[in-house]
Amino acid sequence: SDHQLVYPPHPDQMDWSTLYPAYVAQEESQPEATPSSTTEDLSAPVKVKKLTQDVEVADIGCGFGGLLIALAPVMPQTLVLGLEIRVSVTQFVEDRIKVLRRQNEESKAYQNVSVLRANTMKFLPNFFRQGQLSKIFICFPDPHFKARKHKQRIVSTTLNSEYAYAVRPGGVVYTITDVPDLHGWMVQHFEAHPMFERVGVEEQEGDPCVEIMRNATEEGKKVERNKGEKFVALFRRLEDPVF
Ligand code: SAM
Repeated sequence: SDHQLVYPPHPDQMDWSTLYPAYVAQEESQPEATPSSTTEDLSAPVKVKKLTQDVEVADIGCGFGGLLIALAPVMPQTLVLGLEIRVSVTQFVEDRIKVLRRQNEESKAYQNVSVLRANTMKFLPNFFRQGQLSKIFICFPDPHFKARKHKQRIVSTTLNSEYAYAVRPGGVVYTITDVPDLHGWMVQHFEAHPMFERVGVEEQEGDPCVEIMRNATEEGKKVERNKGEKFVALFRRLEDPVF
């Protein structure tokens, strides 16, 4: 459960070096970083190894990592992170990436994707600074069909404000589901949010990430096998209001 989750008290104290070892910045006399967690004394910030660039793309509830693996070669200059709450599934993705990195040691492919165990409903602002992300993917989120379970949905007014915080103006939140009711719910909540607008169909269909989202995730493949329909909606993060 959540009390076993390790997360930094602030994004500046997140140690990304083990997730993206090929991107660790060279520093003179670098002290060893201690693992950061909330149990630490907040008044004594830990020194963490810095990366040469930030994570800019997040896959929320990444499952078995199909999207990450497919995105890696498409955006080789971008750091992509999968967030997954299930321990065994996170471990599976970690091992999958480890193998791919080993198989591609020379080309350094797959060094730009990684996975982290996290409950994104609670700790997103602990990992990402304001405007850090250019894209968030929410692929086939758990539908939580019953009305009394709707509060567990990964898209809500409150969570959309967190996505608006993490995504920079002009950035995009990508959603896909095979559940029509959930699609309607996501569209309604993002369209009602003052910091998002829906991306038009033409731009949506011209975005290469949409095709990947439709076909590369494990859930997307399952829906394909069952000849189910997939509903896609993209939302652009609007400019911050000027007061
Ligand atoms: N996106 C993947 C795909 O399309 O194949 C997986 C879809 S699966 C139906 C939903 C995933 O979200 C599950 O792996 C689940 O463990 C994960 N998940 C649910 N709630 C979460 C949360 N609060 N934080 C992180 N992951 C979560």
